[in-house]
Amino acid sequence: MEIREWCHEIPKIELHAHLNGSIRDSTLLELAKVLGEKGVIVFEDVAHVITKNGRSLPECFKLFDLYHILTTDHGTVSRITKEVVEDFAAENVVYLELRTTPKKNEAKGMTKQSYMKAVIDGLRAVDTVDVALANSDSSTDYCLEPLPINDTQGRIRRNKIYIRLLLSIDRRETTASAMETVDLAMELKDAGVVGIDLSGNPVVGEWQTFIPALKHAKQLGLPLTLHCAEIPNQKEVQAMLDIHPERIGHACFIEEEEWRRIKSAKIPVEICLTSNVRTERLHSIDDHHFVDLYNSKHPLALCTDDCGLFSTTLSNEYYLAASTFGLDKGQIFQLARSAIEFVFADNEVKEALRNIFEAAERKLMP
Ligand SMILES: [Zn+2]
Repeated sequence: MEIREWCHEIPKIELHAHLNGSIRDSTLLELAKVLGEKGVIVFEDVAHVITKNGRSLPECFKLFDLYHILTTDHGTVSRITKEVVEDFAAENVVYLELRTTPKKNEAKGMTKQSYMKAVIDGLRAVDTVDVALANSDSSTDYCLEPLPINDTQGRIRRNKIYIRLLLSIDRRETTASAMETVDLAMELKDAGVVGIDLSGNPVVGEWQTFIPALKHAKQLGLPLTLHCAEIPNQKEVQAMLDIHPERIGHACFIEEEEWRRIKSAKIPVEICLTSNVRTERLHSIDDHHFVDLYNSKHPLALCTDDCGLFSTTLSNEYYLAASTFGLDKGQIFQLARSAIEFVFADNEVKEALRNIFEAAERKLMP
């Protein structure tokens, strides 16, 4: 089997995926058209960006504005959630930690609670369409066992997909709003919420604003993953490490001193190759810190960040790592499997994932 196809076939774990950035292009186009007809946006302004493969950074920002408008509608939020899960399942992702910022929009009658209800409704909708619940008496455990269905390339897939949620604090938020998100995460623990993320425009917001909410999350036993060093900001990186996050994302601009801390604390790093190149965090993928981390056996997981926005898939990210850094099938499989240890779900899920990988190893490893 060719390596590209093989990267699709192996089970994979996605730990860094934003709901909005993972919307299908076809859905974006359809929804943008409706907004255009209603006069909310000028359709022609966004249409060429939606249909483009390999968007520039300014073009990505255009889509951010569109996401913002679309996610003020509960029905749309449910729909995109359902589709995003289906798309990850079609890539043989067996565990997805999907992150999203609970939104409040009084004019549209949306609260952070009602936004999250729409997300959870979307997850439940997946069951009734083309996947069956593995454990049908537990409607809040999103362990979905798909019926054998054909994906878009006609390949049959039969893996289960476990879905868990991370609630994101956006860097534009106030302390009070961030606290509200942490409390909501706690309320929704039984509905599959397993942790807190800090994300958003890295040039916006002061670290001090988020400390109370992040410490609150820690006290409640909610693990943290932080978007870290997307731009050079050594002081903030130091402060982030002081709070002992369970994982960090990106880690593009880290000084040697902080790398030493990250490595000695063995903090897993969510690596988003395509995203880092597209957002111009590095000149070339060959210069990526993946190489140093991989060679020093540091815990890391390949992730998509925004598979819709950056026109990628998790299978493609594994292929990219294999082809760029010269990893063989055994190394790629081990890389995919090692992510089990960094998921925020409980030991029962980890054990189930170990079994899935063991079965896949027998089938897919020569
Ligand atoms: Zn991200």
